[in-house]
Amino acid sequence: MQKTIFQKIIHKEIPAHIVFEDKECIAFKDIDPQAPIHCLIVPKKCIARVGEASAQDENLLGHLLLVAAKIAHQLKIYDTGFRIVINHGKDGGESVPHLHVHLLGGRALQWPPG
Ligand code: AMP
Repeated sequence: MQKTIFQKIIHKEIPAHIVFEDKECIAFKDIDPQAPIHCLIVPKKCIARVGEASAQDENLLGHLLLVAAKIAHQLKIYDTGFRIVINHGKDGGESVPHLHVHLLGGRALQWPPG
């Protein structure tokens, strides 16, 4: 199967501005930021989208959120606030079929989203 763009980043085949990495995941700046801080937290295990995660992935899913909060501290948006987004499927706005958590902050975000 063809690698997703995020697998290529995980395997360091294409560059990314990495802000965090551990055994389970990698986090890097979004190439098309929608806020002053916009990072993606991506599991190294290739799960296409959140709805395709299984019970086995329960800890991994929790880990991605804990890492998002850690990065919010690291990038100094924890106190001002931030948003975590996961897009699933066409109407959700998913464009890369490799599960990822968006971390957005650094400005007041609108609600509801567009
Ligand atoms: P989604 O629309 O939820 O699937 O999010 C995919 C995100 O990946 C978008 O916000 C893109 O800007 C971002 N993206 C795509 N290619 C890259 C890349 N090479 N490096 C960093 N971010 C990327």
